[in-house]
Parts: sequence; C-alpha cells; structure tokens
Amino acid sequence: MLLNICKAKNCYFFLAATDWPLIWDFIIMITKDLNLAIEQLQKEELIAMPTETVYGLAGNIYSEKAIRKIFALKERPLFNPLIVHTYAVSQLEHFVRHIPAKAKLLAAAFWPGSLTLVLPKKSTIPDLVTAGKDTVAVRIPNHPVALALLEKLDFPLAAPSANPFGCISPTSPQHVADYFQDQLALVLDGGACKNGIESTIIGFENEEPVLYRLGSIPLEALIEVVGPIIIKNKKEIAPNAPGMLARHYAPNTSTYLVDNIESFIKDFPDQRIGLLQFQKAFTASNVVISKVLSPTGDFKEAAAKLYASLHELDRLSLDMIVAERLPDRDLGKSINDRLTRATKKK
Ligand code: AMP
Ligand code: MG
Repeated sequence: MLLNICKAKNCYFFLAATDWPLIWDFIIMITKDLNLAIEQLQKEELIAMPTETVYGLAGNIYSEKAIRKIFALKERPLFNPLIVHTYAVSQLEHFVRHIPAKAKLLAAAFWPGSLTLVLPKKSTIPDLVTAGKDTVAVRIPNHPVALALLEKLDFPLAAPSANPFGCISPTSPQHVADYFQDQLALVLDGGACKNGIESTIIGFENEEPVLYRLGSIPLEALIEVVGPIIIKNKKEIAPNAPGMLARHYAPNTSTYLVDNIESFIKDFPDQRIGLLQFQKAFTASNVVISKVLSPTGDFKEAAAKLYASLHELDRLSLDMIVAERLPDRDLGKSINDRLTRATKKK
C-alpha cells in the first residue's frame, strides 16, 4: 500500500498499488530535449508532453507498466479510458476497425487539432487504455513538439492531462512541475498551451456524430462540417467520462460561477475575493485581485488564459474565487462547461 499525498487537493489518501515502488525518486526537469523524452518513453517511463490543449502525462500505449503508472500518478479511476495520440491519419489503420464517413470529414477538417474521435477499436489496443470498451479515442495534436515526438516514436502515446484527477489542468511546464516534482522525470517544454482547454470529443452512433465533451473546437464549427450533432455530454448519460463528472478541473479555493459579480459579492463584505472575468475588471473593497480573460472579448484568448488564471488565483489563499459566466456560444460554451464543473461544491 502506498501513501500518496495529493498536495494540490490538500488532502491525504491511500492508493492501492501493491506492485508500486514505495519511494518516488525523481527531480523533475523542464527541457526542450526531445531525445531525453524519447529515452524515458522507451524505458516505459512517463513524461509530460506539450499539446495545444493542455500538457499531457504521456506513456507508451502498449506498455502495461507505463499505462498503470498514468492511472496511479493521476489517481485516475481505471474505468476512465485514455486518449491515444498519434501524428498522422495514416496511423489510424493500426488502431481502428472502421472510420464512419463523417469521422473522415471531421478528421480532414480539424486534424491535427483539438478534436478527439472515438472509433471502433482493433483488438491490438490494450483494454487498459480503453477501459475495456470496444472503442478507442484518438487525436492528432496540433503542436510542433508533440508531433515531432510522436513521429520519432514507434508507438503512440496515451496522454491525459498532467494533473491529479479532478484538479485544474496544466497549461504550462511549471504547472506540471508543481503537481509532480518528485514523481516525474521530465516535462518536455513546448511553452504555454495555445488553446488552453481540452479537446472536443466526438463519438459515433449508427454512423452519426455524438458530442461526448465540449472543448477546444466549438460545436458550431463541427456542425458546419457534418451537420447536426447529438449532444450527450451530461453526467447522467455518460458517467464514465472524467471530463463529464460534475466536479472536475477544480481549484482548492471555494469557487463560484455567477452571472452578476457585483450583486453576488455584496453578500460577502468580509471575504478576500479573487475575480475571474471575461472582458472587464471590477473592483470593490473585498476584491483582492481581478483577472480578465480577454479585454477584447475574444473567446480563444479567454480559453487560452482560463486554467493559468485559475492556477494563479488558487495560489493566493483567497477565501473565494468568483468567476463570471461567459456568453453561452462558441468557445464561451466550452469555458462555461469547465467553470461549471470547477465550481461544484466539494
Ligand atoms: P482526458 O482525461 O482529457 O484525456 O479525457 C479523456 C476523455 O476521453 C474522457 O472524457 C474519456 O471518457 C473519453 N474517452 C476516452 N476513450 C473513450 C471511449 N472509448 N469512449 C468514450 N469516451 C472515451
Ligand atoms: Mg483531464
């Protein structure tokens, strides 16, 4: 039994991992050296990999040791499947049995990019990766470092976000280092993530596209390519998907999502409050700091800054974080989805 301390969540709990070494003996290194990353991955170890969405905790999908370590390090339940990352559409034939016509259209329009497609899997994909499902989630990330890495490896990478399960996703190498400083050998430095929120996930039922998770590609853009999309991103419909859990992406600080910040914070005159706002800052005597996501109202800029702003606010020992709901369209919808999940009460 290993005592695993989740500093980020300020809580202590036990993780059953009888075959796991008792001592973590890494000192994390932030590096741009692709060869060091390849060396680790070939030894069946994990690295953190930059992508345009968030930093991923990456390991060889064909290594049981590496995949088990992903689940252990993240404290992620084994029933939650991982996304397989590759570098070219031509690689799909190794993983999937069938590609629906509309999946081909989406791949052509958005890959490399922040879209994950869930497709019928080949039996060569380990059950541990897909949590026993007969489908596999696949993505080609749009990040030059990730693509270069994937192209040099002779195996694809599973790479869920490099954070403990339920915590705020990392969008910079430092965020990863803060979470896993003595548990991971290296973070491959690809700078700050340009898109900043996770991929949009689309599966297929009777050849028709189904939305499993809102994300970095707005729903409107997908509909333009394939027409109507069935929405199934609610917890009740798909309880197995971590991104769909009611509480996820969450700061330690009590966080609220509101339509009107001014009227909400009036009720808390004695609290030290941090604000997360879309376009305009608001000040009041109880506001310690006010972070603006995009002064020009640009959803892409807001998404790119979302998690970094939450990380920053969460480090300030505030009494509460109050976030402003964005207009519910385009990427605003995806950002609201993340904020809603970040603000469910513990
Ligand atoms: P992440 O933790 O960001 O890597 O997200 C992985 C997401 O992909 C989760 O929401 C999973 O539930 C979803 N996912 C992965 N594989 C499948 C699958 N075979 N069927 C449905 N959803 C999947
Ligand atoms: Mg995640």
